[in-house]
Amino acid sequence: MQIIPVLLPKMIEAIADTIEQNAEEVTALDQAIGDGDHVINLQRGIEAVRAKSTELSRLDWAAAWQKIGMTLLATMGGASGSLFGTLFISMSKASDEQPLDLKTFAAVFAEGVEAVKKRGKAQAGEKTMLDVLIPVAESLQQAAADSAALPDLLENVSRVAIAGMESTRDMVATKGRASFLEERSKGHIDAGAKTSQLMICAIADVVKEVAQQ
Ligand code: ADP
Ligand code: MG
Repeated sequence: MQIIPVLLPKMIEAIADTIEQNAEEVTALDQAIGDGDHVINLQRGIEAVRAKSTELSRLDWAAAWQKIGMTLLATMGGASGSLFGTLFISMSKASDEQPLDLKTFAAVFAEGVEAVKKRGKAQAGEKTMLDVLIPVAESLQQAAADSAALPDLLENVSRVAIAGMESTRDMVATKGRASFLEERSKGHIDAGAKTSQLMICAIADVVKEVAQQ
């Protein structure tokens, strides 16, 4: 099966759908401790990527990630635009021409997340998207080391993403706009952690669905 033409358009659609379905909730999160524009920024980026869906699905993963990253950088704006853009561009750089098995993907994703950490000058525990991305990268690497079965791996990734998102509720933000609120940032889930979780769960569901066909 030609993987990319099947997977990529489905992933883009699933991501657009989940962000649309949760738009109000995420906007409320960003309004509580940010400026409320996160969903608008993200949807602008998703629409621009969606418009290139056919073109993207003809590329290999490295070229597709590069184009997705550049598109997000050019269209999204906000802190999240440069961070999500960096994630994809760095994944592209890390992937060379290696075949995309689980071990390679886990390493490539981990490099992308490292680049986001550098770009945002942020670590785990600072109430950002990284509190989802870092544990997901770790769980993928663990799954690769254990040669985990795909259904277990996907279930685990989704579970870890949700736990990471939830964990931001009790954190004090030390990066981004929410950090201006200091202690008052506590009690709210971070918007970028929420959208990262939603997108990762949507991708996991698509992989599961395609793998069952
Ligand atoms: P802005 O904060 O510029 O309005 P968005 O609202 O689109 O941008 O995105 C905000 C999200 O970006 C936050 O919820 C957080 O997850 C993430 N974020 C902000 N700053 C950083 C950072 N320095 N490192 C990692 N993630 C960050
Ligand atoms: Mg914002």
